[in-house]
Amino acid sequence: MIETKAYAAYTPTTPLAPFDFERREVGPHDVQVEILYCGVCHSDLHQSRDEWGGSIYPMVPGHEIVGKVVKAGEHVKKFKAGDLAGVGVMVDSCRVCDHCRQSLEQYCVEGMTGTYNTMERDGKTVAQGGYSTQIVVDERYVLSISPKLDLKAVAPLLCAGITTYSPLRYVNVTKGTRVAVAGLGGLGHMAVKFAVSFGAEVTMLSTSPSKEADAKKLGAHKFVLTSDKEQLKKYEGYFDVIINTVAANHSYETYLNLLALNGKMVVVGIPPKASEVPAGKLLDNRRSIIGSMIGGMKETQEMLDYCAEHNIVSDIEVIKMQDINEAYGRMLKNDVKYRFVIDLASLK
Ligand code: NAP
Ligand code: ZN
Ligand code: ZN
Repeated sequence: MIETKAYAAYTPTTPLAPFDFERREVGPHDVQVEILYCGVCHSDLHQSRDEWGGSIYPMVPGHEIVGKVVKAGEHVKKFKAGDLAGVGVMVDSCRVCDHCRQSLEQYCVEGMTGTYNTMERDGKTVAQGGYSTQIVVDERYVLSISPKLDLKAVAPLLCAGITTYSPLRYVNVTKGTRVAVAGLGGLGHMAVKFAVSFGAEVTMLSTSPSKEADAKKLGAHKFVLTSDKEQLKKYEGYFDVIINTVAANHSYETYLNLLALNGKMVVVGIPPKASEVPAGKLLDNRRSIIGSMIGGMKETQEMLDYCAEHNIVSDIEVIKMQDINEAYGRMLKNDVKYRFVIDLASLK
């Protein structure tokens, strides 16, 4: 077994604290990755505080993992020791259902195996995430990372990146599409970068006036402060697509009003409480609401390759593992610019 140091949530209400555990030995199809950096996603906070229900403790969060391969099993084809590698939000799925066969493993009919806060497919091991020094994953769920990019700034691509890239592609965002991004956090800032890179006209919808300059620096063409009714009024019926990354409880109505004919709001944020959907706001302009969960393995690799080609990474603030509880506090105050990334050297 592989000795691993980590930080874990032990209960929903206590700070994360040190936790030692063992990873499985490297099997013939497995890759062992020494974790160098791990991004901090709002989903880590939701789950460590049991905001979605059913959390399993102790829980090692973290699903934006990058590092170096230290060992590859005898049948592994894609990786060898020394390669850079990434692990995102899932580490397994059934592999044989229709969805898995289309590389939409995140929608596996049997349910994907999340990187943490879930039982692995052996039915007895609790999956533990990337706030740790090592991880062992079947190579089918491990991504190749280009050495061209700054590795620590690549980590957030494994969740925030693919979760915004995939729906923008799915709804066919292209040159001139009027895209709005709700919420300038980890997901939101990646949505802006991708939408701009696909040629869209991009508007930031934010509750934080202080983020206007940053939104423009990220490439957004316009900025709308959602607490200002006058500003909102100007954009009624305007957008083709809204990517809703809001993590806190909120009503969808404000955003639906802004959709044009056949406009689509893609929900990627997962607030603890269900949001109200006024039917009239959907009927008007034949609007629709779509949900989207991360992206499949093939599309995640495509996104990483796209980022390497177009020089796209996340804007990050590097923290030590020991600073995680403070980082969670800042995340709840919308004070993240724009993703915390843990340097796992702080645990070794
Ligand atoms: P984050 O960095 O905390 O960003 C969320 C942003 O939402 C904040 O920065 C803030 O932006 C905005 N916001 C906060 N409170 C708000 C309110 N009351 N009304 C309107 N906007 C508000 O979080 P994240 O890591 O990007 O994650 C966002 C959400 O996506 C989380 O719920 C997470 O669990 C979920 N998620 C889903 C998937 C998926 O597969 N679908 C994957 C990853 C994460 P402003 O300051 O600009 O208002
Ligand atoms: Zn995430
Ligand atoms: Zn499946």
